[in-house]
Formats: sequence, structure tokens, C-alpha cells
Amino acid sequence: MGLTGAQPGVTGDSTPPAAPRSDARVPPSPPHIEDRVVDPALSATTDRPTHCAPPMPAHTDVTQQRLLADPCLLRDIADAVGGPFHVLFPERVAVNIRAFQSAFTEAGVDGFVYFGKKANKAACVARACAESGAGIDVAGTGELVAALGQGVRGEDLMVTGPAKSDELLWLAARHGSLIAIDALDELDRLAALELPVRVLLRVLPEGSTSRFGLDPMELEQAIQAIGAPITLSGFSFHLSGYDAVARSEQAVALVGHCRRARANGHRADTISIGGGFGVDYLDASTWTEFQNTLSDKWFHTNPPGDYYPYHFPAPGAAMLDAVLSHNDLAGLLRDNGIRLAIEPGRALLDQAGSSVFRVQGVKTRTAQGNPYDILTVDGTSLSLSEQWFDSEYLPDPVLWPESTGHLTPTCVGATTCLESDLLSRRRIPLPRRARTGDLLVYPNTAGYQMDSNESPFHELPLPPKVVLRAGADRLRWSLDSTAR
Ligand SMILES: *Cc1c(COP(=O)(O)O)cnc(C)c1O
Repeated sequence: MGLTGAQPGVTGDSTPPAAPRSDARVPPSPPHIEDRVVDPALSATTDRPTHCAPPMPAHTDVTQQRLLADPCLLRDIADAVGGPFHVLFPERVAVNIRAFQSAFTEAGVDGFVYFGKKANKAACVARACAESGAGIDVAGTGELVAALGQGVRGEDLMVTGPAKSDELLWLAARHGSLIAIDALDELDRLAALELPVRVLLRVLPEGSTSRFGLDPMELEQAIQAIGAPITLSGFSFHLSGYDAVARSEQAVALVGHCRRARANGHRADTISIGGGFGVDYLDASTWTEFQNTLSDKWFHTNPPGDYYPYHFPAPGAAMLDAVLSHNDLAGLLRDNGIRLAIEPGRALLDQAGSSVFRVQGVKTRTAQGNPYDILTVDGTSLSLSEQWFDSEYLPDPVLWPESTGHLTPTCVGATTCLESDLLSRRRIPLPRRARTGDLLVYPNTAGYQMDSNESPFHELPLPPKVVLRAGADRLRWSLDSTAR
């Protein structure tokens, strides 16, 4: 499902990013009993000790900046919630949807955006889809019902997922949703419903070892078997990784399938190229420096095996541009009267939310003779999913309130009794020492990070979702309906 993927070629220079600023106007943080443990030389220099990872500041948009700059808002929400929470910016989801829609318009292609719902469960995200003319890609009855409940019409739902239950097929048929067929028995069970339904056939791409999709023989059988009241609307695929050219070439193959199906009397006027549109979390130089200087010494425990491609030069709608312009796919779609569907999950959530934890404890340890801090926050790494794929979420958390003091290598542990439950295994160069009661804001977590692995482990409550909208004078917050 593309949680991690092949790393694209990294471009850009290797200039090290600026060290955390030492702004003379910011008053030093109040004296702290353990401050003397940290080497005072570190505060006076931009040198980073060898047991500390480089700074990896995330790209942020204006809502995140306003949230961090507001003197009260984060604290007010934290006090009201009384535990870790996620913030969501649904207005940003709308912006991301519009960017994809504009890419279709500019390319002269009839296109439609379905949000890959598994990337985030917030009701405000589904509502933003309904308000912005996007549909939703659902894989189960829970997701289907949640999407309908936020106003996405049944006809604007795409139902994917393997081995769909009878209940899901029936609901999808009742609501006139588009069903992506993943196995022949789904067709048999749909036929038994005797309802008018529209289907796509999910194709197993040539050379792929995916467990999803129909192989060439199954495809042929399906094309022969489909007849009224089932309509064969077209074909689909979903690839892992983030390669625009692979998607464009596979789309050409689907156009071929449509033409052959039409020759057999089918409608076949739609193809879906799935999701997998990249997100640009970090700038090129930050990402390049990380990859080029990566060291086991940066980590409190065993270093991760693999990393998501955190820098992505042509993300989101720019990647759709690349798909459409490669070998003039746009022209091919126009010439054949084919509608192009996409199912972006992560990319629609770029800059659309963050995860906030409260520091509950601070310990100082040493590595290679150098001091560093281990924080314990009030949540778990189950609210930062990347950690569960033997990986690490690399955009740095922001220590709030923001001020500068001693640069402090810091890793972040969870409030559980599991040794390996760490939100950040690497030592992050925080611009000052963290104190109990501070907040730690992990940026840009709306896409998969915040809720795909969440669990009430240890009888901890699930972090609620808080919706932030830009009012004229200030940000306004409310609880997402999933949190009420
Ligand atoms: C997960 C999934 C998506 C969304 O993928 P992203 O990488 O988040 O864009 C789209 N379609 C299908 C079928 C999926 O399984």
C-alpha cells in the first residue's frame, strides 16, 4: 500500500542545512536543574556532536506556522484534551484536491479524484472531499458508511479492497458505487444480487507479484462473463512506489484493455491508476545530507532498515502532470474518450495535520561519552505509524513553546512498558532541553502516520482529532466528529 517505497533519485546540492538558530532576542530558557549535564560548548557553536542526527525541519504551511506561533492555542487544546491529540487542517485537504483537479483541467483530461480513505479516518477529511467534488476510495463497510455519513454520494465512491464481503458488495450496489473487482467470485456474487452495478476490473500489472488484481486469463474470463445488469466501466490498477512513468505506461495498457472490451460491446470508458502520488516532506539538501552521512551512532537503539523517500521533487499534482504528459497520455485519453480516475491517499493529506504529545519525563544518558536526553511523552509510537515498518518518521518534531538554549540531542520514548516503543529512535538536535509539560509537535502526520496503526494498547485512550480552521482573526478549533 505504498507506506514505504523505492527512493527516487535525489537531486539538489549537499549544502548542510542551517543549524538551529541562536536568536539573541529570544530569552534563554529558565534555568533547569539538569542543564549542567549538557556540554555548554554546544550552545555556543553550530557543531553537532557525532551521536546526534542532523536537523530535519519539515516543510510547513501557513496554518501550521500560525498554530506554532499562537501563544495560547496549543496549550488550550492540550489542557482541554488532557492527552495526546492530532490536529487536522481540512482547508488544506481542499487545496490539495483542487490542485489535482486543476492538473486534469489544464491537461484537457476528464478526470476524477477519489481520496484513498485508509490514509486518515478523520470525518473532516471526508467532509472536505464531499465539499470539493472529490469521491472516496473505500475498502470496507466501515469506510463506506463513514464516507456516506460525511455527504459523499454513493455514486462518488470507489470500492476497492480484496475479497469483498457480501455486505460490502450489497451496500456498494445499493448506493450505485463503482466497484473495483479483484477476484472472479466477486462478479458471481454481484450477479446474484440482480442490481444494476458499475465495475472496473483490477488488473495485475505484467511482471508484478502483487497479491491483488486479475491475471490475463482471469481478465479475459471476466470480460466474457460480464453482462446486464452489470456494466463493465473499465479497468484499474494500484502500484506501490511513486514512479510516474510506470503509472503512465500502465495507463496506456489499460486504454488497450478498454478498446478490446469495447469491441466486445462493453462501455469501458474509465480507467483508474490508483494512488501513490509522492509527498515532499523535507528539502533536497536536508534529505541528501541525511542519506550521505547516515550513521548508526545517531540512534538510541538499532537503526531503522529503510526510509520513506522524504524528499520528492515533483509531488502530488505535479506528479499527475508528469503521468499525463509522459508520451502524451493526456492525448491518448482524449482521443479514446476515456475518463481518468486517481486514488491519492497520502498526497491529499500533505500539510493537512500534525500530532501533538506532552512531555511527561526527561532523562539524561550518555552515548560514546556524550550526553543526550530521552523524553517520555504521553502517547505511543502507534500514533506515528512509520515506526512500525522498521523505519523512522524523519521530519523533526517541534518542541513547543519554541525558544533556544542548549542544543540537546534528544530521542523520544512512549508512555508504555515496551523497551522498543520509541517515537524517535534517532537523537534529534532540539534547540533547547525539553521540560516536563512541554509539547512536542510532529509535523505533517495526517497521511498514514497519525491513525493507521493506532491502538488502545495499555488501556490508553486513542488520541482525539481536533479540527483547525482559519478564522478572520485567529485559528478556531473544534473536535472532529470521530472524537465526539
Ligand atoms: C492505499 C491505496 C491507495 C492510496 O495510496 P497512496 O499511496 O496513499 O496514494 C489508493 N488505491 C488503492 C487501491 C490503495 O490500496
